[in-house]
Amino acid sequence: MVYDRNNIFARILRGEIPCRKLYEDEHVLAFHDINPQAPTHILVIPKGEYVSFDDFSQNAPGAEIAAFCRAAGRIARENGLDGPGYRILANHGAAAHQEVPHFHLHIFAGRLLGPMLVKD
Ligand code: AMP
Repeated sequence: MVYDRNNIFARILRGEIPCRKLYEDEHVLAFHDINPQAPTHILVIPKGEYVSFDDFSQNAPGAEIAAFCRAAGRIARENGLDGPGYRILANHGAAAHQEVPHFHLHIFAGRLLGPMLVKD
């Protein structure tokens, strides 16, 4: 799948759309989800152009993957989520209902999150 440079997270990275920023470094940006599904709902995105987890895990240089993983853990820790607990999730593709075609990790916390998936 070709990366769409007009996706909403690309526009946030270019500063064309505002976000409630929590963290930024050379490789990573994190901000609050605009439609939170839990009291704390953070999105962590790489600055590189990766469509999905599949793209990122296959094509990102090791340094970017390491930076992303370290940043996600640090963001959770620095927001006090590691004690009570949190959930991380990445949707890949249509079956998982990925809406934004720029790889992102969701971090959910702030309440008891219940079982992993909602049953039909
Ligand atoms: P996904 O379904 O995994 O692609 O998740 C996309 C997420 O992006 C959803 O939770 C949306 O609420 C969130 N989102 C969409 N637009 C924005 C935005 N402008 N700022 C912050 N979060 C957004």
